[in-house]
Amino acid sequence: MTEDGLRRRVSYLRVSLTDRCNLRCRYCMPNTGIRFFPKDSLLDLEELKRLLKVFRDMGMTKIRLTGGEPLLRPELEEILSEIIRLGIEDVSLTTNGVLLSHRVQSLVAAGLKRVNISLDTFQAERFHKITGMAALDRVLRGIWDTVDAGLEPVKINMVVMREWNLDEVEEFALFAKRAPVEVRFLELMPTANNFEGTAGADPDSFVSADEIKMRIERVVTLGAEEPCSGVAKVFPIEEGLGKIGFISPVSNHFCGSCNRIRLTARGALKTCLHGPDSADLRAALQGGADDTELKQIIRDALTIKPDEHFIRPDHYVSGNLRMSQVGG
Ligand code: SAM
Ligand code: SF4
Repeated sequence: MTEDGLRRRVSYLRVSLTDRCNLRCRYCMPNTGIRFFPKDSLLDLEELKRLLKVFRDMGMTKIRLTGGEPLLRPELEEILSEIIRLGIEDVSLTTNGVLLSHRVQSLVAAGLKRVNISLDTFQAERFHKITGMAALDRVLRGIWDTVDAGLEPVKINMVVMREWNLDEVEEFALFAKRAPVEVRFLELMPTANNFEGTAGADPDSFVSADEIKMRIERVVTLGAEEPCSGVAKVFPIEEGLGKIGFISPVSNHFCGSCNRIRLTARGALKTCLHGPDSADLRAALQGGADDTELKQIIRDALTIKPDEHFIRPDHYVSGNLRMSQVGG
Protein backbone atom coordinates (compact mmCIF):
# COMPACT_ATOMS: atom_id res chain seq x y z
CA MET A 1 0.00 0.00 0.00
CA THR A 2 1.27 3.48 -0.86
CA GLU A 3 0.33 6.67 0.97
CA ASP A 4 1.14 10.30 0.36
CA GLY A 5 2.52 12.74 2.91
CA LEU A 6 -0.99 13.36 4.27
CA ARG A 7 -1.64 9.64 4.68
CA ARG A 8 -4.08 9.55 1.78
CA ARG A 9 -3.93 6.10 0.24
CA VAL A 10 -2.84 6.32 -3.41
CA SER A 11 -4.18 3.48 -5.54
CA TYR A 12 -5.36 5.03 -8.80
CA LEU A 13 -3.01 5.75 -11.69
CA ARG A 14 -4.05 7.71 -14.76
CA VAL A 15 -1.75 7.17 -17.72
CA SER A 16 -1.61 9.52 -20.69
CA LEU A 17 -0.54 7.40 -23.66
CA THR A 18 0.08 10.28 -26.06
CA ASP A 19 -0.26 14.05 -26.20
CA ARG A 20 -1.51 13.79 -29.79
CA CYS A 21 -5.16 14.10 -30.65
CA ASN A 22 -7.40 13.98 -33.71
CA LEU A 23 -9.68 16.68 -32.21
CA ARG A 24 -8.98 20.24 -31.10
CA CYS A 25 -11.56 20.79 -28.38
CA ARG A 26 -11.78 24.48 -27.61
CA TYR A 27 -11.53 24.01 -23.85
CA CYS A 28 -8.55 21.66 -24.07
CA MET A 29 -6.22 22.88 -26.80
CA PRO A 30 -5.07 26.40 -27.63
CA ASN A 31 -6.79 27.77 -30.72
CA THR A 32 -3.44 29.16 -31.80
CA GLY A 33 -2.40 25.60 -32.62
CA ILE A 34 -0.39 23.14 -30.61
CA ARG A 35 3.03 21.67 -31.11
CA PHE A 36 3.14 18.02 -30.12
CA PHE A 37 6.08 16.49 -28.31
CA PRO A 38 8.60 14.75 -30.60
CA LYS A 39 7.75 11.04 -30.76
CA ASP A 40 11.13 10.02 -29.38
CA SER A 41 10.46 12.03 -26.23
CA LEU A 42 7.47 9.82 -25.33
CA LEU A 43 7.62 6.65 -23.26
CA ASP A 44 8.04 3.70 -25.57
CA LEU A 45 6.19 0.45 -25.00
CA GLU A 46 8.96 -1.23 -23.02
CA GLU A 47 9.48 1.80 -20.77
CA LEU A 48 5.76 2.03 -20.18
CA LYS A 49 5.50 -1.67 -19.30
CA ARG A 50 8.37 -1.33 -16.86
CA LEU A 51 6.72 1.62 -15.10
CA LEU A 52 3.33 -0.11 -15.02
CA LYS A 53 4.92 -3.02 -13.17
CA VAL A 54 6.57 -0.67 -10.68
CA PHE A 55 3.24 1.06 -10.03
CA ARG A 56 1.51 -2.31 -9.66
CA ASP A 57 4.11 -3.35 -7.09
CA MET A 58 3.40 -0.11 -5.22
CA GLY A 59 -0.28 -0.98 -4.82
CA MET A 60 -2.06 0.68 -7.74
CA THR A 61 -5.31 -1.23 -8.18
CA LYS A 62 -7.00 0.98 -10.74
CA ILE A 63 -5.63 2.34 -14.02
CA ARG A 64 -7.22 4.68 -16.55
CA LEU A 65 -5.69 5.11 -20.00
CA THR A 66 -6.15 8.56 -21.45
CA GLY A 67 -4.35 11.11 -23.63
CA GLY A 68 -4.43 13.14 -25.88
CA GLU A 69 -6.43 10.54 -27.71
CA PRO A 70 -5.44 7.05 -26.51
CA LEU A 71 -6.93 5.36 -29.59
CA LEU A 72 -4.18 6.99 -31.63
CA ARG A 73 -1.71 4.70 -29.89
CA PRO A 74 -1.43 1.55 -32.04
CA GLU A 75 -0.25 -0.57 -29.09
CA LEU A 76 -3.30 0.27 -26.98
CA GLU A 77 -4.57 -3.33 -26.97
CA GLU A 78 -1.14 -4.61 -26.00
CA ILE A 79 -0.95 -2.10 -23.15
CA LEU A 80 -4.38 -3.17 -21.92
CA SER A 81 -3.40 -6.84 -21.99
CA GLU A 82 -0.22 -6.07 -20.10
CA ILE A 83 -2.16 -4.30 -17.33
CA ILE A 84 -4.49 -7.29 -17.02
CA ARG A 85 -1.48 -9.63 -17.03
CA LEU A 86 -0.06 -7.64 -14.13
CA GLY A 87 -3.21 -8.51 -12.19
CA ILE A 88 -4.90 -5.11 -12.32
CA GLU A 89 -8.51 -5.81 -13.21
CA ASP A 90 -9.88 -2.30 -12.90
CA VAL A 91 -8.69 -0.82 -16.17
CA SER A 92 -10.60 1.77 -18.12
CA LEU A 93 -10.24 4.18 -20.99
CA THR A 94 -11.18 7.80 -21.64
CA THR A 95 -11.62 8.55 -25.33
CA ASN A 96 -13.22 11.09 -27.62
CA GLY A 97 -14.89 8.12 -29.31
CA VAL A 98 -14.13 9.11 -32.92
CA LEU A 99 -12.10 5.96 -33.61
CA LEU A 100 -13.91 3.72 -31.16
CA SER A 101 -16.49 1.93 -33.26
CA HIS A 102 -14.20 -0.27 -35.32
CA ARG A 103 -11.94 -1.03 -32.36
CA VAL A 104 -14.47 -1.99 -29.68
CA GLN A 105 -14.11 -5.73 -30.26
CA SER A 106 -10.31 -5.77 -30.08
CA LEU A 107 -10.36 -3.60 -26.96
CA VAL A 108 -12.83 -5.92 -25.26
CA ALA A 109 -10.74 -8.92 -26.30
CA ALA A 110 -7.71 -7.23 -24.73
CA GLY A 111 -9.56 -6.91 -21.42
CA LEU A 112 -11.28 -3.52 -21.45
CA LYS A 113 -14.37 -3.52 -19.22
CA ARG A 114 -15.38 0.11 -18.95
CA VAL A 115 -15.06 3.24 -20.97
CA ASN A 116 -15.66 6.98 -20.67
CA ILE A 117 -16.54 8.74 -23.90
CA SER A 118 -16.40 12.50 -24.15
CA LEU A 119 -19.35 14.16 -25.84
CA ASP A 120 -20.40 17.77 -25.35
CA THR A 121 -23.28 18.18 -27.79
CA PHE A 122 -25.83 16.28 -29.85
CA GLN A 123 -25.80 18.96 -32.55
CA ALA A 124 -23.59 18.13 -35.55
CA GLU A 125 -22.61 21.68 -36.40
CA ARG A 126 -21.92 22.56 -32.80
CA PHE A 127 -19.84 19.41 -32.42
CA HIS A 128 -17.74 20.57 -35.36
CA LYS A 129 -17.30 24.02 -33.84
CA ILE A 130 -16.37 22.72 -30.40
CA THR A 131 -14.00 19.97 -31.53
CA GLY A 132 -12.77 21.10 -34.94
CA MET A 133 -14.03 17.92 -36.67
CA ALA A 134 -17.36 16.92 -38.20
CA ALA A 135 -17.51 13.59 -36.40
CA LEU A 136 -20.62 13.50 -34.22
CA ASP A 137 -22.04 10.46 -36.04
CA ARG A 138 -18.86 8.49 -35.48
CA VAL A 139 -18.85 9.24 -31.77
CA LEU A 140 -22.52 8.27 -31.41
CA ARG A 141 -21.82 5.01 -33.26
CA GLY A 142 -18.91 4.39 -30.90
CA ILE A 143 -21.18 4.92 -27.88
CA TRP A 144 -23.81 2.48 -29.10
CA ASP A 145 -21.20 -0.10 -30.13
CA THR A 146 -19.67 -0.07 -26.65
CA VAL A 147 -23.11 -0.45 -25.09
CA ASP A 148 -23.87 -3.34 -27.46
CA ALA A 149 -20.50 -4.95 -26.67
CA GLY A 150 -21.59 -5.12 -23.03
CA LEU A 151 -19.05 -2.67 -21.59
CA GLU A 152 -20.35 -1.63 -18.20
CA PRO A 153 -20.62 1.09 -17.26
CA VAL A 154 -20.39 3.28 -20.34
CA LYS A 155 -19.92 6.83 -19.11
CA ILE A 156 -20.42 9.96 -21.18
CA ASN A 157 -18.35 12.99 -20.12
CA MET A 158 -19.95 16.32 -20.97
CA VAL A 159 -17.91 19.44 -20.21
CA VAL A 160 -20.51 22.15 -19.63
CA MET A 161 -19.83 25.63 -21.03
CA ARG A 162 -22.34 28.44 -20.61
CA GLU A 163 -22.23 29.80 -24.13
CA TRP A 164 -21.66 26.49 -25.93
CA ASN A 165 -23.84 23.74 -24.53
CA LEU A 166 -25.56 24.64 -21.25
CA ASP A 167 -28.83 24.63 -23.20
CA GLU A 168 -28.31 20.90 -23.89
CA VAL A 169 -27.86 19.56 -20.36
CA GLU A 170 -31.55 18.62 -20.12
CA GLU A 171 -31.25 16.63 -23.36
CA PHE A 172 -28.18 14.81 -22.01
CA ALA A 173 -30.11 13.97 -18.83
CA LEU A 174 -32.98 12.57 -20.92
CA PHE A 175 -30.45 10.55 -22.91
CA ALA A 176 -29.28 8.97 -19.62
CA LYS A 177 -32.91 8.22 -18.82
CA ARG A 178 -33.49 6.20 -21.97
CA ALA A 179 -30.03 4.65 -22.49
CA PRO A 180 -27.99 2.46 -20.11
CA VAL A 181 -25.23 5.02 -19.73
CA GLU A 182 -23.97 7.30 -16.97
CA VAL A 183 -23.87 10.90 -18.15
CA ARG A 184 -21.34 12.86 -16.13
CA PHE A 185 -21.48 16.62 -16.16
CA LEU A 186 -17.98 18.06 -15.71
CA GLU A 187 -17.29 21.55 -14.51
CA LEU A 188 -15.08 23.40 -16.96
CA MET A 189 -11.57 23.74 -15.54
CA PRO A 190 -9.22 26.60 -16.36
CA THR A 191 -6.10 25.55 -18.22
CA ALA A 192 -2.94 27.22 -19.43
CA ASN A 193 -4.73 27.52 -22.77
CA ASN A 194 -6.85 30.32 -21.35
CA PHE A 195 -3.91 32.59 -21.86
CA GLU A 196 -3.62 31.63 -25.51
CA GLY A 197 -7.08 32.68 -26.55
CA THR A 198 -8.86 29.34 -26.23
CA ALA A 199 -12.57 30.02 -26.42
CA GLY A 200 -14.83 28.32 -23.96
CA ALA A 201 -12.49 28.05 -21.00
CA ASP A 202 -12.86 31.25 -19.01
CA PRO A 203 -14.79 32.35 -15.93
CA ASP A 204 -17.81 33.45 -18.01
CA SER A 205 -18.07 29.96 -19.53
CA PHE A 206 -17.89 28.21 -16.18
CA VAL A 207 -21.13 26.68 -14.85
CA SER A 208 -21.23 25.16 -11.37
CA ALA A 209 -22.44 21.61 -10.78
CA ASP A 210 -25.24 23.04 -8.58
CA GLU A 211 -26.57 25.12 -11.45
CA ILE A 212 -26.40 22.15 -13.85
CA LYS A 213 -28.22 19.95 -11.33
CA MET A 214 -30.98 22.50 -10.90
CA ARG A 215 -31.53 22.55 -14.65
CA ILE A 216 -31.66 18.83 -15.16
CA GLU A 217 -34.01 18.30 -12.22
CA ARG A 218 -36.60 20.09 -14.36
CA VAL A 219 -36.70 17.08 -16.67
CA VAL A 220 -35.68 14.03 -14.60
CA THR A 221 -36.20 12.94 -11.01
CA LEU A 222 -33.01 11.86 -9.32
CA GLY A 223 -32.97 9.09 -6.72
CA ALA A 224 -30.81 9.02 -3.61
CA GLU A 225 -27.12 9.76 -4.16
CA GLU A 226 -25.09 6.57 -4.44
CA PRO A 227 -22.36 5.87 -1.90
CA CYS A 228 -19.30 7.79 -3.05
CA SER A 229 -16.98 5.67 -5.17
CA GLY A 230 -14.81 8.32 -6.79
CA VAL A 231 -14.83 11.97 -7.68
CA ALA A 232 -18.36 12.02 -9.10
CA LYS A 233 -21.57 12.44 -7.14
CA VAL A 234 -23.77 9.85 -8.83
CA PHE A 235 -27.56 9.59 -8.81
CA PRO A 236 -29.89 7.03 -10.37
CA ILE A 237 -32.72 8.42 -12.49
CA GLU A 238 -36.18 7.39 -11.38
CA GLU A 239 -37.74 5.12 -14.00
CA GLY A 240 -34.61 5.50 -16.11
CA LEU A 241 -32.03 3.11 -17.54
CA GLY A 242 -28.99 5.23 -16.81
CA LYS A 243 -27.50 7.50 -14.19
CA ILE A 244 -26.34 11.05 -13.77
CA GLY A 245 -23.01 12.13 -12.27
CA PHE A 246 -21.60 15.52 -11.33
CA ILE A 247 -17.89 16.29 -11.15
CA SER A 248 -17.09 19.58 -9.48
CA PRO A 249 -13.32 20.14 -9.37
CA VAL A 250 -13.86 23.92 -9.21
CA SER A 251 -16.90 24.61 -7.03
CA ASN A 252 -16.42 21.75 -4.59
CA HIS A 253 -13.06 20.08 -5.00
CA PHE A 254 -12.44 16.58 -3.75
CA CYS A 255 -8.75 16.91 -2.87
CA GLY A 256 -9.24 15.68 0.70
CA SER A 257 -9.91 12.17 -0.56
CA CYS A 258 -7.66 12.27 -3.63
CA ASN A 259 -6.24 8.81 -4.32
CA ARG A 260 -4.83 9.48 -7.78
CA ILE A 261 -1.55 10.17 -9.47
CA ARG A 262 -0.76 10.67 -13.13
CA LEU A 263 1.88 9.51 -15.56
CA THR A 264 2.30 11.74 -18.61
CA ALA A 265 3.16 10.48 -22.07
CA ARG A 266 6.68 11.76 -21.55
CA GLY A 267 7.06 9.72 -18.41
CA ALA A 268 6.64 12.50 -15.85
CA LEU A 269 4.88 11.72 -12.61
CA LYS A 270 2.25 14.28 -11.59
CA THR A 271 0.90 13.99 -8.08
CA CYS A 272 -1.68 16.75 -8.69
CA LEU A 273 -3.47 17.57 -11.95
CA HIS A 274 -3.02 21.27 -11.33
CA GLY A 275 0.51 21.10 -10.00
CA PRO A 276 3.89 20.92 -11.76
CA ASP A 277 5.56 17.65 -12.75
CA SER A 278 6.74 15.89 -9.61
CA ALA A 279 9.42 13.61 -11.03
CA ASP A 280 10.89 12.63 -14.39
CA LEU A 281 10.57 8.85 -14.36
CA ARG A 282 11.69 8.45 -17.97
CA ALA A 283 14.95 10.22 -17.23
CA ALA A 284 15.42 7.95 -14.23
CA LEU A 285 14.72 4.88 -16.39
CA GLN A 286 17.15 6.02 -19.03
CA GLY A 287 19.72 6.78 -16.37
CA GLY A 288 19.61 3.12 -15.37
CA ALA A 289 17.47 3.31 -12.20
CA ASP A 290 16.39 -0.10 -10.96
CA ASP A 291 12.88 -0.79 -9.64
CA THR A 292 13.87 -0.02 -6.04
CA GLU A 293 15.22 3.36 -7.07
CA LEU A 294 12.16 4.13 -9.18
CA LYS A 295 9.89 3.32 -6.24
CA GLN A 296 11.89 5.60 -3.99
CA ILE A 297 11.59 8.46 -6.50
CA ILE A 298 7.83 7.95 -6.59
CA ARG A 299 7.56 7.74 -2.79
CA ASP A 300 9.61 10.92 -2.40
CA ALA A 301 7.35 12.75 -4.86
CA LEU A 302 4.29 11.55 -2.96
CA THR A 303 5.49 12.95 0.34
CA ILE A 304 5.00 16.41 -1.14
CA LYS A 305 1.73 15.75 -3.02
CA PRO A 306 -0.20 19.00 -2.48
CA ASP A 307 -3.04 18.82 0.04
CA GLU A 308 -5.33 20.68 -2.39
CA HIS A 309 -5.39 22.75 -5.54
CA PHE A 310 -6.36 26.41 -5.43
CA ILE A 311 -8.76 26.72 -8.32
CA ARG A 312 -12.11 28.16 -7.23
CA PRO A 313 -14.98 29.92 -9.03
CA ASP A 314 -13.49 33.22 -7.78
CA HIS A 315 -9.90 32.14 -8.45
CA TYR A 316 -10.28 30.76 -11.94
CA VAL A 317 -6.71 30.50 -13.12
CA SER A 318 -4.27 27.78 -14.01
CA GLY A 319 -0.59 28.41 -14.42
CA ASN A 320 0.50 25.49 -16.46
CA LEU A 321 -2.15 22.85 -17.09
CA ARG A 322 -2.42 21.62 -20.67
CA MET A 323 -5.20 19.10 -20.40
CA SER A 324 -4.33 17.20 -23.59
CA GLN A 325 -0.82 16.57 -22.27
CA VAL A 326 -1.94 15.26 -18.89
CA GLY A 327 -5.16 13.47 -19.71
CA GLY A 328 -7.67 15.15 -17.40
N1 SAM B 1 -9.08 12.61 -25.71
C1 SAM B 1 -9.77 11.90 -24.71
C2 SAM B 1 -11.12 12.50 -24.44
O1 SAM B 1 -11.38 13.63 -24.86
O2 SAM B 1 -11.92 11.83 -23.79
C3 SAM B 1 -8.99 11.78 -23.40
C4 SAM B 1 -8.20 12.97 -22.94
S1 SAM B 1 -9.19 14.36 -22.42
C5 SAM B 1 -7.96 15.51 -21.91
C6 SAM B 1 -9.88 13.73 -20.89
C7 SAM B 1 -11.10 14.45 -20.39
O3 SAM B 1 -10.74 15.77 -20.02
C8 SAM B 1 -12.23 14.58 -21.42
O4 SAM B 1 -13.43 14.07 -20.89
C9 SAM B 1 -12.32 16.06 -21.65
O5 SAM B 1 -13.63 16.45 -21.94
C10 SAM B 1 -11.82 16.61 -20.33
N2 SAM B 1 -11.35 17.99 -20.39
C11 SAM B 1 -10.46 18.53 -21.26
N3 SAM B 1 -10.29 19.84 -21.01
C12 SAM B 1 -11.08 20.14 -19.96
C13 SAM B 1 -11.35 21.34 -19.22
N4 SAM B 1 -10.76 22.50 -19.54
N5 SAM B 1 -12.20 21.26 -18.18
C14 SAM B 1 -12.82 20.09 -17.85
N6 SAM B 1 -12.61 18.93 -18.50
C15 SAM B 1 -11.75 18.96 -19.55
FE1 SF4 C 1 -8.42 15.80 -27.73
FE2 SF4 C 1 -9.68 14.92 -25.56
FE3 SF4 C 1 -8.48 17.31 -25.57
FE4 SF4 C 1 -10.64 16.99 -27.03
S1 SF4 C 1 -10.52 16.82 -24.80
S2 SF4 C 1 -8.74 17.96 -27.71
S3 SF4 C 1 -10.47 14.92 -27.66
S4 SF4 C 1 -7.48 15.38 -25.72
